[in-house]
Amino acid sequence: MQLAESIVAHPRNADWAAELRAAGLRATSQRVAVLTYLDHNPHSDAETILRGVLETLPTVSIQAVHGIVNDLTAAQIVRRVDLADSHSAQYETRTKDNHHHVQCIECGRVEDVDCAVGHAPCLTPSDTHGMRIIETDLTFRGLCTSCERK
Ligand SMILES: [Zn+2]
Ligand SMILES: [Zn+2]
Ligand SMILES: [Zn+2]
Repeated sequence: MQLAESIVAHPRNADWAAELRAAGLRATSQRVAVLTYLDHNPHSDAETILRGVLETLPTVSIQAVHGIVNDLTAAQIVRRVDLADSHSAQYETRTKDNHHHVQCIECGRVEDVDCAVGHAPCLTPSDTHGMRIIETDLTFRGLCTSCERK
């Protein structure tokens, strides 16, 4: 948990406009606002992002947020995370580093976990059925300390 908190406390403060242009996307104020919010609030779903960016962009809609996160995911500036104990897809700016997640099965809290082996595909299946394995979709599930106390 300490690791994830330190990541939240020290976001990258990247030049999102430059990253968008490098990916061939227009650096709109809505896209930059979504990226800035996600950088400080990883694993947010579209509804949470909307609430977060409404302060700076009062006219943005949930449809616009869905369109933005889809575009950013396709451009690999954002990673989409689908976890069993989340109601909807979550998004984060920490991409391409093969990290995993630990999720509380009670409250749904999600934290980052560095990959134990450091590189994909992490695990070797007993039978690949002839497929070249690219990655392993790995989620640790457990109980956080506050849910454990209940
Ligand atoms: Zn919990
Ligand atoms: Zn993550
Ligand atoms: Zn791994």
